[in-house]
Amino acid sequence: MHTMVAVPTVLLVEDEAAAAAELSRVLSEAGATVWHAESATDARAILKHGRPQLIVLDLTLPDVDGLVFCANLKNDAPDVPFLVCSTGTTAEKILSFKLGAEDFVAKPYDAAELQARVEAILLRRSRQAAPTRGLQREHTTAPAMNTPPGPDLGRLRVDLARWRVTVDEKPLNLTPTEFQLLVFMARRPGEIISRQELARSVWGNESMSRSRTIDAYVRRISSKLAVAPLGGHTEWPPRILNIRGLGYQLTVPHASPAA
Ligand code: CA
Repeated sequence: MHTMVAVPTVLLVEDEAAAAAELSRVLSEAGATVWHAESATDARAILKHGRPQLIVLDLTLPDVDGLVFCANLKNDAPDVPFLVCSTGTTAEKILSFKLGAEDFVAKPYDAAELQARVEAILLRRSRQAAPTRGLQREHTTAPAMNTPPGPDLGRLRVDLARWRVTVDEKPLNLTPTEFQLLVFMARRPGEIISRQELARSVWGNESMSRSRTIDAYVRRISSKLAVAPLGGHTEWPPRILNIRGLGYQLTVPHASPAA
């Protein structure tokens, strides 16, 4: 029988875009699905909803000192190992280990070495979790165990445990904020949702709804959704409509009568 093992997920906490892109590539080559957070705040928001198998972080973050973030992981994700990939003094390195770091890879790092260290941690953890089977690096769409179901709108599906939205089985590359907004809309498909509500859902207040920020976010989500082709399917692709003066509406995919 084919053993379904979920692809390991790594939460990458790195604010610099170039460094994040390069690290994502290395982590993907280690067989992982990568969730990317640009700040400690984003990372903590992600950890509220999902559990990665590993956290890889840089110590210089835009909002919170990386070491403070590490210290908070005891509460935020006590069961998740973390690897620090950062420049840093010997003192910071030692402190990282004292705070529970599984490993520390100094920047500039060697990609092959980092990949090997990441694979070693994932392998150790998968053996601890399931002593009889090793880590399978095969990509599979099998749901992870204990996955809370997310909204399933046919062609658009939300996987909360993996912090992932797929359209036609293809994952969308969403930032944490885009993900939160889209999930909020996906929970109320076909409903017109005001900018104020959308802003509250993500930032906890409505101030962002007065700026064009929310529109910019929705435009970016829309352009990512636009990858879904219109034709060749039995259902309409998911789209976000701007209902002038009222808000936004995630269209419900209707099955065609032929389906
Ligand atoms: Ca940084």
